[in-house]
Amino acid sequence: MQLKSILNRVERYKSFVYGKVQWVEDAARPTIEVRIEPRANGRAICSGCGRPGPGYDRLPERRFEFVPLWQIAVFFVYAMRRVDCPRCGVTVERVPWAEGKHTMTTTFRWFLARWAKRLSWQEVAGIFQVSWEDVFRSVKYAVSWGLAHRDLSGIEAIGVDEIQWQRGHHYLTLVYQIEDGMKRLLWVARDRTEASLRDFFQTLSEEVRLSVRFVCSDMWQAYLNVIAEQLKNVVHVLDRFHIMKKMGEAIDEVRRGEARRLAQDGYEPVLKPSRWCLLKRPENLTEKQTVKLAELLQYNLQSVRSYLLREDFQRFWEYSSPGWAAKFLDQWCTRTLRSRIEPMKKVARSLREHRDLILNWFRARGKVSAGAVEGLNNKAKLTTRKAYGFRTYEGIETALYHTLGALPEPEFTHEFC
Ligand SMILES: [Zn+2]
Repeated sequence: MQLKSILNRVERYKSFVYGKVQWVEDAARPTIEVRIEPRANGRAICSGCGRPGPGYDRLPERRFEFVPLWQIAVFFVYAMRRVDCPRCGVTVERVPWAEGKHTMTTTFRWFLARWAKRLSWQEVAGIFQVSWEDVFRSVKYAVSWGLAHRDLSGIEAIGVDEIQWQRGHHYLTLVYQIEDGMKRLLWVARDRTEASLRDFFQTLSEEVRLSVRFVCSDMWQAYLNVIAEQLKNVVHVLDRFHIMKKMGEAIDEVRRGEARRLAQDGYEPVLKPSRWCLLKRPENLTEKQTVKLAELLQYNLQSVRSYLLREDFQRFWEYSSPGWAAKFLDQWCTRTLRSRIEPMKKVARSLREHRDLILNWFRARGKVSAGAVEGLNNKAKLTTRKAYGFRTYEGIETALYHTLGALPEPEFTHEFC
C-alpha cells in the first residue's frame, strides 16, 4: 500500500489529489513530502467570499506540516492558485487542509491540541518536534473553535469561584456548570471584581440566563452583588466547600497569631509544625499527627478552641430540615461570638449575615451536585500549577478552557490520536 492510498483513506479532499510522495534527502530530520494538485476540472475557491472564480496565476510552492508518520515529519507541498474574483479582486484560494497563512495543517493543529490535554505543552512540543508556541497556538485554536461551537442551552446550576495564580494576590474568576450530567468550566476572567463576573452573564443569551435555577458561590461581596443583580428567582447557595474553606483560613490565622505570641513570651513553639493537625479532619490525620493533636489539646489554646468550634460545625451539614439547621446555625454563631477569638468571630458574623443563603444549601440539596465546585476547583489549581510555562494570562486562560471546558471538536474522518 502506498502512502497516497493511506492519505486518501484518512484525509481525502474533494477538489484536490495527492501527487508525488518523496523522501527528502539531507533534511535535518527524516522528512517526507507529499505534493498536492488540484483536480483537473476543479476551480479555485476565493478565500474572500468562498465562491469559485476564474484562475489568475499560481504562487510559489508552500509547505504545510501534517501529522508525522513513525516519527517521520510529513509535509504537504502545494502551489496556491490566485483567483480573479469578480467580487473581491485578486485573492489567494481557500484550501481545505489549512487556514490563512498557517504553515501547519488544521489536522496537525488538532492533533497537537489533543495531545496537550494528556501531556504538558512542553512534552508535546518535544515529542512532535515543534515549538512550545506551536503547541500553544494549536491549543488556542482548538479552544476558540470549541467556544464558538459549544452549546450553552439549558444550564441549570452554576458555581462561581476564584483561584489564585502567579505569586501574590492575582485572582481569576471561574464559573462552572455543576449539574450531575454536566460539569465543566464555562468562564474565566481576570480578577474577582464585579466586572469579572458580570461579563460572563453578558455573554449569555437571555434564554440561557433565565434557565439558571441554582447558583453556588462563596461570600465574596462582589460576586454576591452581581448574582443578585443578574439572576432573579434563583436559589443562591453558599456551599459547604466555601464555608469550610473560610473556617480553615480563620483557624490558620488564629494559629499563626498565637504561635507568634507564644514565641514572644518565650514558650516552646508547639504550634509551628502542627499546622496540618489543625487543618485536617481527624480521620485524615497520620499517627504522628494524632499524638501532636493530643498534646495540643491539653493546652487551652485559642487554636484548639477554634478547631473544636469547626469540628462542631460539621454537624450542621447533617441536618435534613432547614428549620433545625437554622436553629443550630444560630446557636453556633452565638457561642462563637462569645469566644473572644477574633478570626472565628468574623466567620460567625459573616455566617449570620448570609444566613438565608447558607440555609439554601438544604433547599438545593440533590439539585446541585455536591462537591462539584470543589472538584473542579482542585483540577483548575492543578492546571495552573503544572509547569506548562504559562507566563501570561492568555496562556492560563487557554489551558483552563482546554482542560476543563469539555469543549466540542469537529468530526474527523480519522482519529489520529
Ligand atoms: Zn471573492
